[in-house]
Amino acid sequence: MAKKQFKAESKRLLEMMINSIYTQREIFLRELISNSSDAIDKMYYKALTDESLVFNKEDYYIKLSADKANRTLTITDTGIGMSKEELENNLGVIAKSGSLAFKKENESKDGHNIIGQFGVGFYAAFMVADVVTVISKAQGSDEAFKWESKGADGYTIVPAEKDSVGTEITLKIKENTEDDNYDEYLEEYRLKAIVKKYSDFIRYPIKMDTKSQ
Ligand code: ADP
Ligand code: MG
Repeated sequence: MAKKQFKAESKRLLEMMINSIYTQREIFLRELISNSSDAIDKMYYKALTDESLVFNKEDYYIKLSADKANRTLTITDTGIGMSKEELENNLGVIAKSGSLAFKKENESKDGHNIIGQFGVGFYAAFMVADVVTVISKAQGSDEAFKWESKGADGYTIVPAEKDSVGTEITLKIKENTEDDNYDEYLEEYRLKAIVKKYSDFIRYPIKMDTKSQ
C-alpha cells in the first residue's frame, strides 16, 4: 500500500515535538494510557445501551510490556478498538486534540510547557520512538488492521491478525544519544514511576509485564 502523508498541520506539530529540546518526554505514556482508558470507557458506555454487550470489569485493563532486547514498549488495551477508517481518521490528524490551535495562539511562549501541560495526544509517542505500530480490532468487527509510521514521512495501513477486540501500540524506542537517554523507557521501575506520577487516577488496572533480556 502506498504511503499516505499526514495533513500539513499535523506535520508541523510533529516536527515541533520531535525537534524541541524537551525535558518532559515521559508524558508520552500519560497520553497513550489516557487514550486506552478513553477506549475502555467507550466500551463501558456502549454496553449500557447495547443489550447484547456485557461489561465485565475484570476483562478491561491496560498493559505495559517492555522488551529490552528488541527495544520495544507495548501498550495494550481491551478497549473499543479502531476500524481501518478510524485508524486513518483518528491517527492521521494531530490537530484534533486541540493542542495545535493552542500552540498557534501562543507562538512566543516556551514550547516545553505547552506540551507538558496540554494533551498533545497520540503523537507524543514519537518523542521516544522511531517507529510506532498500532494493531487494532474494532468492537463488532472481525477484521484487524495495522497502522505504522516512522513519524513525519507518513503512515501505512495494512490488514493484520489480532484475536481480541482492542488496541496494541508498539513503540520502537530510540537509541540513546550523547545527550539523551531513552533506555529508561524500557525499565520497569521507571515506567511504574511515570504511571504513578501522571496516571494514578486511571480507573482501570494498569498491568506491567517486563522482559529483561
Ligand atoms: P484525543 O485523545 O485528544 O482525541 P489523541 O491524539 O490522543 O487525541 O487520539 C486521537 C484519537 O485516536 C482518539 O480520539 C481516539 O479516537 C483514537 N485512539 C487513540 N488511541 C486509541 C486507543 N488505544 N483505542 C481506541 N482509539 C484510540
Ligand atoms: Mg488522547
